[in-house]
Amino acid sequence: MLRNWDMSKVSDGKLYTSNDMAKLGCQECAGCSECCRIVGDSIVLDPYDIYCLSGHLGQSFEELLASKLSLGVVDGIVLPHLNIADDGSGCGFLDKAGRCSVHSVRPGICRLFPLGRIFNDGTFSYFLQVNECKKSNRTKVKISKWLDIPNLPQYERFVNDWHWYLKGLSEEAAACEDAEKLKQISMRVLQRFYLAAYDMERDFYEQFYMRLRGK
Ligand code: SF4
Ligand code: SF4
Repeated sequence: MLRNWDMSKVSDGKLYTSNDMAKLGCQECAGCSECCRIVGDSIVLDPYDIYCLSGHLGQSFEELLASKLSLGVVDGIVLPHLNIADDGSGCGFLDKAGRCSVHSVRPGICRLFPLGRIFNDGTFSYFLQVNECKKSNRTKVKISKWLDIPNLPQYERFVNDWHWYLKGLSEEAAACEDAEKLKQISMRVLQRFYLAAYDMERDFYEQFYMRLRGK
């Protein structure tokens, strides 16, 4: 997402790589599910999130959209996000005990929190949002362990490539004055990366990069 804000007000001022340690350990969120309840439409899902959720739940993108997801506009492009009810009940994937029922395949933004990503010069770094997690006495954890995602180098490459691809499209959308063309840009993204089903027997990244290359 393209945002203008002052890093010094929200972070500890440091930029991290996944090999660094940061104060993230929050006792496994015991007794707290705040970030799954008050985050509005901000948990935007990338194609890898959909691949993981679809594979785990056995549901197509359309089926997920009918229950747990909605579409919204992010920097001019229509993208899916988690439905977070504003009555306090929060994400539809929270179970009765206030735990994530899809923890093993939780979206990338959920894995990150309270880290954020900052993109610059064709790459990205992590930063720590110091005012977000409600737990005090957080312990230092290596970021790669915190993210807990298979094949992290490849995942980070994908995150970066996806960001810069969307950024290019957002700039195209911002310069576009033709409503029909704007709609086509978003439909192209939705159709190519979300609606066209992924083969769960095949590697995600191979399929993603074929789609990115327009094949
Ligand atoms: S998917 Fe899981 S971790 Fe993410 S907001 Fe929903 S309940 Fe929380
Ligand atoms: S506020 Fe902190 S402890 Fe609470 S759910 Fe979020 S990360 Fe976990």
